[in-house]
Amino acid sequence: MNIGQEILLQLKDEITEVEYKRYIKQLTYDEKKSSSDLAIYYAPNALVSNWIKNKYTTKIEHLFEVKTSTKVTVKIGLKKSFDKRKKSTSQVPKVLQHSLLNPSHTFDNFMVGGSNQFAYAAVKSVSEKAGQTYNPLFIYGGVGLGKTHLMQAAGNVLQNQGKNVIFTTSEQFLNDFLRHVRNHTMDNFKDKYRKCDILLIDDIQFLSNKDIIQEEFFHTFEALKGAGKQIILTADKHPKKIAGLEKRLQSRFEHGLVADIQPPELETKIAIIKNKCELNKVNLTPEIINYIATVIESNVREIEGILSKLHAYSQLMHVDIDLEFTKNVLKDQVQENRANLTLDNITKFVSKDLNIKPSEIRSKGRSRNLVYARRICIYLCRELTQNTMPQLALYFGMKDHTAISHTLKKINSLMQNDEDFKVKIEELTNKITANS
Ligand code: ADP
Ligand code: MG
Repeated sequence: MNIGQEILLQLKDEITEVEYKRYIKQLTYDEKKSSSDLAIYYAPNALVSNWIKNKYTTKIEHLFEVKTSTKVTVKIGLKKSFDKRKKSTSQVPKVLQHSLLNPSHTFDNFMVGGSNQFAYAAVKSVSEKAGQTYNPLFIYGGVGLGKTHLMQAAGNVLQNQGKNVIFTTSEQFLNDFLRHVRNHTMDNFKDKYRKCDILLIDDIQFLSNKDIIQEEFFHTFEALKGAGKQIILTADKHPKKIAGLEKRLQSRFEHGLVADIQPPELETKIAIIKNKCELNKVNLTPEIINYIATVIESNVREIEGILSKLHAYSQLMHVDIDLEFTKNVLKDQVQENRANLTLDNITKFVSKDLNIKPSEIRSKGRSRNLVYARRICIYLCRELTQNTMPQLALYFGMKDHTAISHTLKKINSLMQNDEDFKVKIEELTNKITANS
């Protein structure tokens, strides 16, 4: 396997299966034309090539740099047109000034809502007064919630001001360290990390139980902090909860500001989807946007995967993206997310939300509240599980499937005529799927 392919395989770990198959796997590496500082890949069509240019080039370049210790420029061409432009590739300057930060990770492109406004405000403030307010700034939260994006947004702002910004994952930091140890060039390593103005280290939890690198990082940290240089760290957990992290590091991390990011609520998800559609020139109706926001749990990366999937399908199959099409494309994804949703779970959830006992929801009681809760529950069970109407009738103690079908019709017409009701249903769907 050549190095170009090896790098793509590494990328596989960092992105979704769908993205990998649809885009990255389509690339072929041109071993002949590539050199030690230029990597040339070909994409089969403009769609794939554009997505890769927008989203992955910086990552691929970063992986190359970590692997080869040389700054490598990545070019994505179309198989045919690239051959014609042979000359232009040789005109690429030997040493290209480029950053490892993804330039599209900006504050403007980051949608703010209740779930992430604290982290956003903290990072923004640090980007305005680096080294002077919260140092270190520690951002933590689940996968795909925007930690890396935010951290890089600050990095982009500061880099544009001419600051020497280093962005690296803790894994890459470790690899870099090991390489310098091997090559007996630790002085260079120290120089590099201690002389920067801003150090951004992503996913610091990776250092847990790795004592030697924790030791090294501690000294780097102290040196930078002492010199008033800003440090931003991210992790999947609060410093206190990272097992295998030295006490002294833990306390240093808590010393600045610790800010969390929570899964986005419905409105934020909608804003994010709209933003991604704009960035990637995908046209979706509000109805479809709402649908995606409702069925997809919280992981924003998953949302991106879905948009690219929709876009690719519609282009390749020459169809417009409408709701039916969207539902079809998302079918596997939705079922996977919902594999653990059961009638009991949903009923319990609705029961808690509406403050009515599950046994009452499943009873034959006819009071207004009960009927309301039961209808909602039946609707959600039908939408979110694979149960058939007779199965639902049995579960809810109804005569037969026609009673269920009648309830579903009723709910559908309510949703069409009553905006508040529709919002309520969407909210519940959203909460249930986020918790599944
Ligand atoms: P994390 O580092 O927390 O796992 P990332 O920062 O890599 O997550 O975010 C995953 C993807 O979701 C990125 O492409 C990022 O741009 C996008 N994203 C996450 N949160 C938001 C947001 N609030 N607004 C816009 N895009 C977001
Ligand atoms: Mg990240």
